[in-house]
Amino acid sequence: MTGANEPGAAMKALIARLYPICRSITGEGVRETLGILCEEIPLEIHEVPSGTPVFDWVVPDEWVIRDAFVKDGTGERIIDFQAHNLSVVNYSRPFKGTLTLDELRPHLHAEAEHPDWIPYRTSYYQENWGFCLPWNRLQAMGPGPYEVEIDAEVKPGSLTYGECFIEGRSAEEVLVSAHCCHPSLANDNLSGIAVAVELIKGLMAAKPRLSYRFIFIPGTIGSITWLALNEARFPSIKAGLVAVNLGDPGIMHYKKSRRGDAPIDRAAAHVLKARGDHRIEDFSPYGYDERQFCSPGIDLPVGCLSRTPYGRFPEYHTSADNLDLVREEALAASLAAFREIFAVLERDGTWLNLSPMAEPMLGRRGLYAAIGGRSDTKDRQMAMLWVLNQSDGRHSLLDIAEKAGLPFALIADAAEVLAAHDLLAPAEGRVL
Ligand code: ZN
Repeated sequence: MTGANEPGAAMKALIARLYPICRSITGEGVRETLGILCEEIPLEIHEVPSGTPVFDWVVPDEWVIRDAFVKDGTGERIIDFQAHNLSVVNYSRPFKGTLTLDELRPHLHAEAEHPDWIPYRTSYYQENWGFCLPWNRLQAMGPGPYEVEIDAEVKPGSLTYGECFIEGRSAEEVLVSAHCCHPSLANDNLSGIAVAVELIKGLMAAKPRLSYRFIFIPGTIGSITWLALNEARFPSIKAGLVAVNLGDPGIMHYKKSRRGDAPIDRAAAHVLKARGDHRIEDFSPYGYDERQFCSPGIDLPVGCLSRTPYGRFPEYHTSADNLDLVREEALAASLAAFREIFAVLERDGTWLNLSPMAEPMLGRRGLYAAIGGRSDTKDRQMAMLWVLNQSDGRHSLLDIAEKAGLPFALIADAAEVLAAHDLLAPAEGRVL
């Protein structure tokens, strides 16, 4: 490690490499993306055939896009998929013809509010075709005719997703999901992927207590497919986070799981509060894949950790969600927040004070000396007293941290020191 921003630079570089790829909910773009991730992490690639029933849905046919353009009378491509992959409506069906502007206009998408940006549009489940372009370019288009072609296919294939499992000492799992279905959009899509990759690398080196499962899936249909194929795993999943929008300059947001008071909800709230400006929001059945993980029949304890949430930054779902929007320092801070939340999940537990009749003599055991001389000596001493007082088997370390108004890490460190001096023992049969 040579500098605080080093992981930020690595994540930004990965985002820059993945940015030009035309991804969708199926197809080569997702395969190419996951192939690049395989260079950095051990990823298992799954292919689920088109037509596979997944709960109330069916895995769709695969989209193949080769080229798409609108040419003016001089033969110049005034809308060009090769220049920007947002230029074609994602999942456009093939089309070829010569059209006037009036005929073409219902198939053109532009936003007057952001006249220089290309909007992002999809048509996965409706058989349609179209183009997206800046409003200013649309205003400059003459009556035509235009040569229009979308060289695409929708045909039986498969839905591709990637999964990386890091086995801990406990079978209890933390699930992290990132969607990988957006084409050239950097914050919404690639920032979550990049942070997840960096988390995986760190966890693999750390040999954690909990097991971690990362899934890189197309939005909605990908999480539905994964859930349908993995029902047997649900009881092992003790916490989860959807990782998204982690590179923009906005403040951190945590959207609670449907349960609202799951360990992940409490851990995320505690960590974000300690880290500074942030916002905690209640669950709602909209947004990213937490909608699926938190559907009533599934109800997994999965929240959503982001900087600016779904749809709330002006660049959202436009060509302005590009590499300029994503900052190294924002990515690094997001990564740190995930790691601190994981640390709470790793270390939280309930302990029993083994010397509960009045305070044990800490000085005799060298416990005051052990913590003396540090700038936070007073806090460390208070952390010890709080842990001893509250460790009656009914309060977890996170409960104690909140009650004491002290950082979780300080409370967990105090518990470790006290356990090493045989003053504490785990209250439950917990894997340490
Ligand atoms: Zn999106």
